[in-house]
Amino acid sequence: MASQARAWDAFREDEMIQTVSGRIKPSELGVTMCYEHFIVDLTAVRKDGVSKIETAEEVKPEIQLMMSLGVQAAVEVTTIDLKRDIRKLKQISDETGLKIVASTGFYLDPFHPDWLRETSAEEIADIFIKELTEGIEETGIRAGIIAEIASSPEVFTPSEMNVLKAAGIAAVMTGSAVSTHTGRKTAQETIDTLIHAGVNPDKIIIGHQDLIDDSDYHLALLKQGVNIAFDTCGKSAYMSDDARAENAIKIIRSGYGDHLMLSNDVSRNSYFVSNHGTGYTAAMSIVVPKILEKGGLQKDIDKLLIDNPARILNNRAWD
Ligand SMILES: [Zn+2]
Repeated sequence: MASQARAWDAFREDEMIQTVSGRIKPSELGVTMCYEHFIVDLTAVRKDGVSKIETAEEVKPEIQLMMSLGVQAAVEVTTIDLKRDIRKLKQISDETGLKIVASTGFYLDPFHPDWLRETSAEEIADIFIKELTEGIEETGIRAGIIAEIASSPEVFTPSEMNVLKAAGIAAVMTGSAVSTHTGRKTAQETIDTLIHAGVNPDKIIIGHQDLIDDSDYHLALLKQGVNIAFDTCGKSAYMSDDARAENAIKIIRSGYGDHLMLSNDVSRNSYFVSNHGTGYTAAMSIVVPKILEKGGLQKDIDKLLIDNPARILNNRAWD
């Protein structure tokens, strides 16, 4: 383990955050949503007609509403198999001024292309490393994180485990963070697999944990040095925002406010404000005020929104 520990420490000196518009210093990032989709398509499996966002034009007004609440940056976690579109992300960033960190990765097994199932973890890692260090497709625009690396609710499928192992290899090679789509039953295996691969626990973000209303469970994860995301703010059909805020307060009071982040995870255009949803605004307009009401301090909020993303998204500068 000692030699693995040095693999990431060696990169600290020249770390920067990779956005679709180039590298920035961590201090330039600002208020950040850690887990969003701006261009995405889940309809190949969901077949519901609304689990997609196809154009910059439709999403820009929604992003501008989010920015009017103070958001300056976002991690866009759409994977290759959810039709990530790096050119459209660049267009959105250019036209709104939002700083966007794009992702490399693959999602849940039903979305995996056939070729992926016959590809080794090492070869998948090469794809991730290429997108993090050289660029996506022929654009020269680089991913800044490995996300959203998914596991099925009950257990990893073989293909999902292969992708997770690839994420571990690529994270160690590049110093990039890995952000996951994870339920309660696969969280520990996700952490164990990444740490075994040599990934710095502070570069691991376990996603969707606000959907689990159990702060003892949250603290058991946080004690291992990883970060967790309360990233489905506003999705009150799954969990009330009151419970999200209450669990956030428990984490902050337990001394783990340095390892929690917030976001909205909009994966359907039916969640848009223009469709009478809360869109990308719930974290800022509902959950943050509730945390403050329950006794959270502005400095706690600044950690969740500014300091933690700036620290975790840092990766190795490449030239
Ligand atoms: Zn997800």
